[in-house]
Amino acid sequence: MADELKNIICDIDGVLMRDNSAIEGAGEFIARVVQQGNKLIVLTNNPSQTPQDLQNRLASDGVDVPLECFYTSAMATADFLKIQEGSKAYVVGEGALTHELYNAGFAVTDVNPDFVVVGETRSFNWDMIQKAARFVSGGARFIATNPDVAGPEQSPACGALCAPIERISGKKPLFLGKPSAWMMRAAMNHMEGHSGSTVLIGDNLQTDILAGIQSGIETILVLSGVSQQSDLEVVSWRPSHIFENVGQIDVV
Ligand SMILES: [Mg+2]
Repeated sequence: MADELKNIICDIDGVLMRDNSAIEGAGEFIARVVQQGNKLIVLTNNPSQTPQDLQNRLASDGVDVPLECFYTSAMATADFLKIQEGSKAYVVGEGALTHELYNAGFAVTDVNPDFVVVGETRSFNWDMIQKAARFVSGGARFIATNPDVAGPEQSPACGALCAPIERISGKKPLFLGKPSAWMMRAAMNHMEGHSGSTVLIGDNLQTDILAGIQSGIETILVLSGVSQQSDLEVVSWRPSHIFENVGQIDVV
């Protein structure tokens, strides 16, 4: 019975992929849940890749995810801004983020923006910091796609790009990606799923699992990424289930 299947929210890095290689069992797991007919969201905090980019990256090593299943922090940010007053945004980010904001009906501009939206970009520069800090100081609402500070090899991520704007303006951004419960709520809305019948699969106790717990979702920790068994000793919460990797999950 399709309506008894759990809805699945699945993280990408450390769960399905390690860099550009599929993690053991990932392709088979996705193929199984797609075939069973579970509602599926494949989620990432990274706002700089489009669903098409992500689909290509995963498919390159045999993980075939339907395009409509991807949900990024750029999409969660656009979904958040849609329900807020305002229609103009100054954006520090890549085309994938700008594209989502255009799709949501926003004007992307550096003239009197209602919001300053910061994502991840390699073209971060003095001019962007100055404009963003000036707009935020002048009352524009400061929104960040995700709180991650660094990616692989200390590459600066969204949280780090926000730091100079925070220091100058004295204001902190609202972070929308994991571990914010908004990301989970928005993902559930996107697949029209309810928390009571949804399970989250993640590799990070501090972001994925915490976000799942705070959203009332059943959680599965896989030990193929960031968090290891010993990390359970230092946090005050527990996932509902623990598996070595996604290929071993037998509860969905
Ligand atoms: Mg991860």
